[in-house]
Amino acid sequence: MSVSFSNKLINWYNHNKRDLPWRKTKDPYKIWVSEIILQQTRIEFGIKYYYKFIKKYPDVKKLANSKEMDLMKIWEGLGYYSRAINMLKTAKIVLNNFNGVFPLSYEELIQLPGIGDYTASAISSICNDELQVVVDGNVLRFLSRIHKIDLPIESIKTKKYFKKLGFKLIQDVKPGDFNQALMDYGSTICKPKKFDCNNCLFSSDCKAYNSNSVENYPVKKKKIKVKDRFLNYVVVVTNDNKTQIKKRDSSGIWKNLYEFPLIETKIETSAKQISKELDLNLKDLLSVKKINHRLSHQLLHINFFVYKVDYKLDDLVDINTLESYPFPKPINKFISELI
Ligand code: SF4
Repeated sequence: MSVSFSNKLINWYNHNKRDLPWRKTKDPYKIWVSEIILQQTRIEFGIKYYYKFIKKYPDVKKLANSKEMDLMKIWEGLGYYSRAINMLKTAKIVLNNFNGVFPLSYEELIQLPGIGDYTASAISSICNDELQVVVDGNVLRFLSRIHKIDLPIESIKTKKYFKKLGFKLIQDVKPGDFNQALMDYGSTICKPKKFDCNNCLFSSDCKAYNSNSVENYPVKKKKIKVKDRFLNYVVVVTNDNKTQIKKRDSSGIWKNLYEFPLIETKIETSAKQISKELDLNLKDLLSVKKINHRLSHQLLHINFFVYKVDYKLDDLVDINTLESYPFPKPINKFISELI
């Protein structure tokens, strides 16, 4: 089945490939930018970030010489901020160690910060037709249904298994096209819930379809427990409309972004408790805003306690300038209502 499957798939791709901005180039810098943005991000959402990013940083040199805060501002809202931090590290390495020429080979790419097997395989195969197989969620779903593979897709062992299978299929075809075809087919035809088996080219060979068990694939491990966290932001507003913010460190969530002074508690807390803990007057409480925000493994219960203060404080910034700092999404939402 392998040769005809691969040729059929590429033929389908040549007629149906999506018109995406990064498909018009083989510049490894641009392919890298698109691949990093698209990790954990839907294509429709990622496109506007891609344009914004390439406009501001059209080449690796521009990115390497950028300020982290400006980059975080561009990245704001995309989440998984370590991606942007690693991009800056990688751009500096490319500028200093590769004379600003983005590497093309899997072996060189995999050494760079934030570039794992998936991204190195994608860049080297798309830009250099190197024989490398990409295994993303779309590929895992599509191939696990066709072959009825019962391995849990989260495990490293399973990814290796699929990679081996991919290497059998990729022989004798253009690796870049094959990888993109496989991912496109998974994301447009063999979709997670709305799989289009009636219009699928492979239905006669598909073991899951022919045993009426498409919904059972891909096999997933039990759901990861979501952790509840209670974040309490103390937003002070001075008489001259200033407030305090600070930069988060580079560990945990929202790496290197900004936030208001934070008190994290084990359970939901009240304005009365916050006032007591910080020796603030409850009478000076202007408002409380609650926002829940879901991350992949955490549910954040965020409270913003806004106090007016009439005494001197350090590190104040004008509230009207808050929009120039990179903040996490829920804090930005709060700020948009504050200004
Ligand atoms: S027949 Fe259905 S399940 Fe099988 S590959 Fe096609 S779309 Fe996916």
